[in-house]
Parts: sequence; structure tokens; C-alpha cells
Amino acid sequence: MTPEIIYVDDKSDIPLFGVDFFGIIDRGTNVIEVKPLTLCNLKCKYCFVSAGDYETNFIVDPKYLLAKIEDVVEAKGRHKIEIHFAPYGEILLYPKLFYLIKELWKIKGIEIISMQTNGLLLNEEIINQLEKVKISRINISLNSLNKEKANFFCGCENYNIDDLTNSILHLLDTKINVLIAPVWFPGENDNDIEDIIKYVIDLRKMGYSKRKIQIGIQKYLIYKTGRKLKKIRPKSWDYFYKQLSKLEKIYSIKLKLGPQDFGIHKRITVASLNIKKNDLIRLEIISKGRWKREYIGKIDNDYGIKVLLNRSIIHPEKFIRKEIIAKIIKANYKDNILTASFSI
Ligand code: SF4
Repeated sequence: MTPEIIYVDDKSDIPLFGVDFFGIIDRGTNVIEVKPLTLCNLKCKYCFVSAGDYETNFIVDPKYLLAKIEDVVEAKGRHKIEIHFAPYGEILLYPKLFYLIKELWKIKGIEIISMQTNGLLLNEEIINQLEKVKISRINISLNSLNKEKANFFCGCENYNIDDLTNSILHLLDTKINVLIAPVWFPGENDNDIEDIIKYVIDLRKMGYSKRKIQIGIQKYLIYKTGRKLKKIRPKSWDYFYKQLSKLEKIYSIKLKLGPQDFGIHKRITVASLNIKKNDLIRLEIISKGRWKREYIGKIDNDYGIKVLLNRSIIHPEKFIRKEIIAKIIKANYKDNILTASFSI
């Protein structure tokens, strides 16, 4: 079945705050996380948001995003703001990416625009366009330099590692900074992580600066609704940082990166509702979600909420525009992401 695509714009009535899988996430810092789409070209075996597999996908209208981002920047203060594209999907599939970046630079106060990508859709033409619209940094998820292993992790058959490393070289010859962001799967890609560290060191030896090419190793995290790599048990944060310290010593390279390394600092939280777990909340069902039992509720013009049903409905369209009272099951104050449950 071809997945349906829902366009989120001002006419859709779907708010941009509150839902984790699209829109704007405000974590109370100078970084505004933007999720303009949910489409992905991969279906990685470890994807913590199960992207590439949604029954319904979402694409957000760039003008709708721009208007809201303008308000957020105004409230946070018009200086040192970073826009970070971190979709539950692949940002290079967003049809209006270059337009959106160009328009974002017109918002006073935005000083960095960065994005996460799996990198496989990069090519000379796209890199040239990205340079033209002045993207500041690209974070590339790359878990192994070995084609077979990369195929395995990404659940694909033709992960083209040579094309990707060529794209990285091409990026390094532009004004764009690059951060290689492998996920470390303990016992599965330990050697690959070391190979990637050596790869970054070699690039630096070629003359690219520490700012130009960075490495940010990510801890493998397991989420209930995400896909999991069989057999792998994630280690504690303590173990993770100890391992990074060991590798830092072996390779004389900084691997433990914190908010200060990216100029991230506290700012006021713009998007905030005084809602707690177990509260009952009146809302209007405004749209389907990604899966059969998932819907999007509207609390007000700014705030949406993910609503999980106890069972799927045969005619979901009949549920849209219904007013319900749902129970909050997750209210994450740090990033203002809300989830409610409702029994039918
Ligand atoms: S890990 Fe990234 S590239 Fe892989 S399926 Fe998830 S969103 Fe897509």
C-alpha cells in the first residue's frame, strides 16, 4: 500500500508545536529543532523512530514553518539562534528545502542553519545548491565504512559508501562544515567506530580543520516504538563515556562533545503548556497520525498532541473533528512533547 501524505499548512489547522514527529521542537535553548517531513529513503534496522515505514507521512508547508519560526526567534532573542533540521526521516527528501533555508536566513537572529542526513542522496548538484543557500553544517550518520555492514544497519542492499565518502570530500571543499555522527552499537560496530575515527583523523591530516570535520559518536538508544537491532543490549551512559575517554587517549582526538562545543545555551522556552501526566484534557482530533492507532489532537492554535487509541478505527475519517477528553500519558517539559491516550 502506498503511504498517504498529509500536507500540514495553515489551512490544515494542524498546530506546529507539541507533536514529536513534525513541526517545531523547542528545548529551551538557542537551537530551534525543525522537522519538516517524515519521509525517509531508508528503513534502518535501529531507527528509534521507525521512519521509512509510516502508513501516513507528513510534509509541512515552508511558509507555515517560517511564520512560526519568526515568532519563536523574536521571543527567544534575535541573536545566535541555530535552526537544526532533525526530521523523523531524511531532510533531503523535503521538496522545498533550498527555499526554506534561503528564507530562514532572512529572519534576523538566525546565525547557524544545520541539518542531519543519512547522506545517501547527496551528489554534486545538491551539494552545490546547499552551498549556495549557505547551510552551515551537515551532520552525516555513518555507522560503518564497510559496505556490507552499512547495508545491514540500514536494511538496504546498495548502500554506496564510495559515493558517500566522495560527497563528504566534496562537502569539505565547500564552506559547509561536516560532522560525522556514527551510532555505536556495542559488540556490533566497535571496530567500525575506530575506523571512522581514523578516517576523520586522516581527513584532518589532509588539512581540514577540527571545525571543518568533526566526529560526534552517538549512543545507541532503544525506544519502545522504534526498531531495534537484535542481540544488542545498550550500555549505560557511564560505560559509553568511559569508552569514549579510552578512545580519546588512544587516538588523541576529542570525542566527548557537549552543548558548549556547538554554542548551545539556555534561552526562554517559547512553547510551553502547564500540562502534567494523568491530566485529562479536552481536545479536537484534527488528523490521522503515522499509524492506525495514532491521531493528532489540537489543543489550541499553537499546540497539537499525539493521541494514541486503544484500538484502530475502521473509518478514521469519522473520528476527525471529534471533540474528546483524553488522558495525558506523557508530558515532556524539556521539549514540550505531549502524548495522550483515549479509549473508544
Ligand atoms: S535512522 Fe535516519 S535514515 Fe535511518 S530510517 Fe531512521 S530516519 Fe531514516
